[in-house]
Amino acid sequence: MTVRTGSCLCGARAYEIDGDVDGVWICHCSLCRKASGSNGNSILIVPRERFRWLKGEDHAVTYALRSTYTITRCKTCGTPLPAEVDERNIYVTAGTLDTPLGKGVKAHLFCASRADWDRDEPDAHVFDERPG
Ligand SMILES: [Zn+2]
Ligand SMILES: [Zn+2]
Repeated sequence: MTVRTGSCLCGARAYEIDGDVDGVWICHCSLCRKASGSNGNSILIVPRERFRWLKGEDHAVTYALRSTYTITRCKTCGTPLPAEVDERNIYVTAGTLDTPLGKGVKAHLFCASRADWDRDEPDAHVFDERPG
């Protein structure tokens, strides 16, 4: 069985996921845009029994913004990490994966709330690394 790993920026928190995941969900709602400071939250939906912490499970700060919306971040580096409030699934922040997923984006949610800049201009530059 495939096992994928992920971690925060400072390495204090790390996790494993057993088995394949069917793709990434990107939520563009106004809460996810604010919480990420970007175009939304990119997550993997993983059944609880297939997720486990390798280290740093308790090294976290959770912000309960409302009953249906919480954010958990590493206490040291602030990286947003898996949300565990749902009874059945863990919502894993896709950007924290350290191993390839082998799948792309499965769905975009709340596209009506998407930022107007969340698209490429016709002459957008694409660099493999930082230019210059
Ligand atoms: Zn960290
Ligand atoms: Zn959202």
